[in-house]
Amino acid sequence: TSRPDTSTDTRSAAAFARAQQVTPGGVNSPVRAFLSVGGTPRFIASAKGPYLYDVDGNELVDLICSWGPMLLGHAHPEVIGAVAEAASRGTSYGAPTTAEVELAAEIIDRTPVEQVRLVNSGTEATMSVLRLARGITGRDKVVKFAGCYHGHVDALLAAAGSGVATLAIPGSPGVTEATTADTIVLPYNDRAAVREAFATYGDQIACLFTEAAAGNMGVVPPGVEDGVGFNRFLADLCHQHGALFVSDEVMTGFRIDRSGQYGLDGVVPDLMTFGKVMGGGFPAAAFGGRAELMQSLAPVGGVYQAGTLSGNPVASTAGLTTLRLATDAVYAHVDRASARLQAEVATALATAGVPHVIQAAGNLFSVFFVPEGVTAVPDYATAATQDTAAYAAFFHAMLDAGVYLPPSAYEGWFLSAAHDDAALDRVVDALPRAAAAAAAA
Ligand code: PMP
Repeated sequence: TSRPDTSTDTRSAAAFARAQQVTPGGVNSPVRAFLSVGGTPRFIASAKGPYLYDVDGNELVDLICSWGPMLLGHAHPEVIGAVAEAASRGTSYGAPTTAEVELAAEIIDRTPVEQVRLVNSGTEATMSVLRLARGITGRDKVVKFAGCYHGHVDALLAAAGSGVATLAIPGSPGVTEATTADTIVLPYNDRAAVREAFATYGDQIACLFTEAAAGNMGVVPPGVEDGVGFNRFLADLCHQHGALFVSDEVMTGFRIDRSGQYGLDGVVPDLMTFGKVMGGGFPAAAFGGRAELMQSLAPVGGVYQAGTLSGNPVASTAGLTTLRLATDAVYAHVDRASARLQAEVATALATAGVPHVIQAAGNLFSVFFVPEGVTAVPDYATAATQDTAAYAAFFHAMLDAGVYLPPSAYEGWFLSAAHDDAALDRVVDALPRAAAAAAAA
């Protein structure tokens, strides 16, 4: 039962066959296609609380939560009610509304930013912040880390070059060398590499992008050396060189804390990006920072940025309602659920003799199927030593038992306030067989 389900007689299989005719790979975002774990992706018909229901009627405990947004669980009655009420008043006006102002104010209340601009996706937020940072500083170069994902922005879709402080190479066909020529890709948590890059290019660097805590190579928290956290180190180095420190909290923001990684390490970035939870399951994202920096944006300043659906009233209502319901009790619940699952996964894998490392940033955690002897995963090169076949076997055994894990070994596990004991018990009950399947892979 640890092998991928390749049956052709399910409704999901039929839906997938049809989907592949009308859209490349049958999906609108690659990781949904199950490529790295194999088998047929589940088509989802509905969701409620901690559960997904696929088109064949299977109930699945959801450990993705839409890759982060569904902090309160699916179809929370108050969110759905507010969304229905907002939609009944019209869905988009192309003129300002008070809902978007209230959402901006809620973000500002929870984070160190003084002003925000609302956009529709995390990609748009990072793309806009990069332009803003370049516009403000009059510099071209951007530093990012291997394994950190900031959306599919050309300049940020770059892979590490051959040596430290060498320029990046395009990370995808269609990304030109010219667009990545100003991108410097460094190993995460590698302070010497960052120092060297700034020593070489410091006066040309507009900004440094980092995930506030890395969550797109599995979860890799910023390391602490001599009592100084990696984000603190990065912010200080940026400021010594007149560069802006950009913290991407699209994944971590309003999820691992009422603010995000900022709430855990207190490092104040110059500019920040947000998404996921703040949209409450709708397309909404934001970027923000000190007012003095944000004033460089049109229509006040010269850096152009715009959007037909930006600050959409329905999306803003969903996000605002979600954030207002995301109380300290919600975060405490998710933290407890996460701690329980981490402990149970560790026990099951250890019992089955599967080498692994579990890492967390607040309540966001992931399980690395790294070789025996690896005790920590500080960067992408280490994450890439994972046994992806073992993960695939683990994934499919969990899916067979009604638990929907991320279909990739490089992703975090997401929980919600709706993950009650009944849902968690189901996950825990499935673990021993899945761990055995991983051991046998
Ligand atoms: N930044 C981070 C840290 C992310 O995790 C993501 C999406 N996973 C993005 C940016 C891009 O956001 P979106 O998918 O909404 O474009």
